[in-house]
Amino acid sequence: MFKKILYIIGLVFFVMFIFLILKNANLNSFIDSVENRTFDLRQSIIIKEGGKYPNSDIVIIAIDDATYEYILGNYGEWPLPRDVYANIINYLENFSPRAIAFDMMFVKSLKSQNQADLALINCFKKYNNLYTSMNFDNQSADLRTPPDLPEKLTINVKNNSKIDFAGLTYTNCRKILDGIINATSNIGIINVSRSDDGVLRKMPLIVKYKDKFYPQLALKVGINFLGENDKIYEIDKNSNLKIGDRKIFLDKDGSAIINWYGPSGTYTYIPMYQLIKAVNGEKTELDYDFSNKIIYFGTTAASLFDIKTVPTGKIYPGVEIQATFINNLIDNNFIRKADRSYTIALSILLALLIASVVSRINSAFTASLMSLSTYFIYILISYYAMKFGNLWLEVIYPLIFSIFAFTCAYIIKYLIKSRDFELQYKLATTDGLTELYNHRYFQEQIRMQVEQSKRYETNFSLIIIDIDFFKRFNDTFGHQSGDAVLREVAQTLKRNVRSTDIVCRYGGEEMSIILPNTSKEEALATAHKICSRVAEKKFRLYGGRETGVTISLGVATFPADGETAVDVIETADKRLYLAKNNGRNQVK
Ligand code: GH3
Ligand code: MG
Ligand code: MG
Repeated sequence: MFKKILYIIGLVFFVMFIFLILKNANLNSFIDSVENRTFDLRQSIIIKEGGKYPNSDIVIIAIDDATYEYILGNYGEWPLPRDVYANIINYLENFSPRAIAFDMMFVKSLKSQNQADLALINCFKKYNNLYTSMNFDNQSADLRTPPDLPEKLTINVKNNSKIDFAGLTYTNCRKILDGIINATSNIGIINVSRSDDGVLRKMPLIVKYKDKFYPQLALKVGINFLGENDKIYEIDKNSNLKIGDRKIFLDKDGSAIINWYGPSGTYTYIPMYQLIKAVNGEKTELDYDFSNKIIYFGTTAASLFDIKTVPTGKIYPGVEIQATFINNLIDNNFIRKADRSYTIALSILLALLIASVVSRINSAFTASLMSLSTYFIYILISYYAMKFGNLWLEVIYPLIFSIFAFTCAYIIKYLIKSRDFELQYKLATTDGLTELYNHRYFQEQIRMQVEQSKRYETNFSLIIIDIDFFKRFNDTFGHQSGDAVLREVAQTLKRNVRSTDIVCRYGGEEMSIILPNTSKEEALATAHKICSRVAEKKFRLYGGRETGVTISLGVATFPADGETAVDVIETADKRLYLAKNNGRNQVK
């Protein structure tokens, strides 16, 4: 019964705890931020163990610090005249690459030269494997009227999921050169989304502007690479965006969780100045076969600043995020996060497992070790789920649940044990018939009294009691009645002494009272009182008959009547014998 109540209380606490955690938004976002860090850690470990292979079809042309220096030296100032890009594009197209994509926006600049811009625009007209990017923002319409964009840049999305894209809906757009927009539909957006801690873990695949969907640059390049163009893209009810036979999981805000392949520099980087040199016929170290590659252009120079923090590195260039993104897309490698309801179900399962381990195993050390191992096995499972299944199983909720279950189970176990201990102690020290302390306890206590009285130089007294002619009583009224009288005499003794006095059953029908800090006079007074109370008492027997018993009492006091427990008991015994001989029903 006691155990059942405890288990129910524990369970109620557990359910309350779950609600508290799940309903508290602040707590939730704190847990999420810690969970995000464990994601970063898992990603880093998988990479350190050499578990991921970046796609070698991707190459990055970097406008790096060296290129910036080269441009300042040879062209005077940034930005570059656009015909330089046109020349590079024409040069690269000779290799027949799969795609050339610019993670850069060709907006109208102060230094625009119409002829140079035209050369670039002509490239977009000429090559259908050439891509560039544009960015949405929420700039005020006061500054810039939100422009209309041509239908050809949008994609059709059939959204059957709960994702509302509210966080990925923008109100304004900074247009790139009209000539480019008119020349091509190969324009993707390059908006990003960051977690609360500023780390970029996810990327929007599609964003919304003026009620239309626009694809991410990498999605645009990837769709063409996979030959999956011009279709309706469906998001199923499990938040998967279907592209051909691929299912890309979108997190609750609509972004895809990126699987990282390494710190910055994982992909082949070629400084753009080498390409410029090659185009101009100058001598350069450049020796690279661009055929069938996906070529990404982007800025990495410190002064051009497009640096982000990602799970695998604090300094990670935006262009490499694009490369990673398209790598995920081509190799179907995005991360899927397990649904929160699965996480909670798993957490509860783990908590129950740990609670049952704690309640079943006696050794605290073994139980702790087994609980730890249980959680550790879960961590391993979550690690391998990410490594081999691209699955993000949350670990912080299970940890919190496990700790709670472990603590609760231990508290319950302790309460049960301490109650068992109390019960056993009571059994070991009391007499079953009279519920007085037993002989063993009496011996312990009287020895302790001797020690204490010696130490504090006080006294204590002992009264030994024996029922008169009890053998005859038994013979007359039967043993059952004898037992009942024994119990009643015991109760009478208890009721007539102080709460600090210790009343024991000494033997058969003999009882004893230890009276700490009590002088001979006080003890005699108590003994007399008890003697007359018992004598006055009418004992009601089975069948309604009433009768009385009397007792004889012997009193001894430490240290006057003996300096050891044995001596004190012996004196009290002798006095009891005297009382018997003197006619019984009296105190000696
Ligand atoms: P006295 O006045 O000299 O003490 O006479 P007595 O008959 O009481 O003699 P004694 O104390 O030697 O007798 C002990 C008797 O107490 C023996 C037994 O019948 C009875 N007795 C001892 N323990 C119990 C018990 O647990 N229940 C009952 N009913 N009787 C007991
Ligand atoms: Mg006796
Ligand atoms: Mg007796």
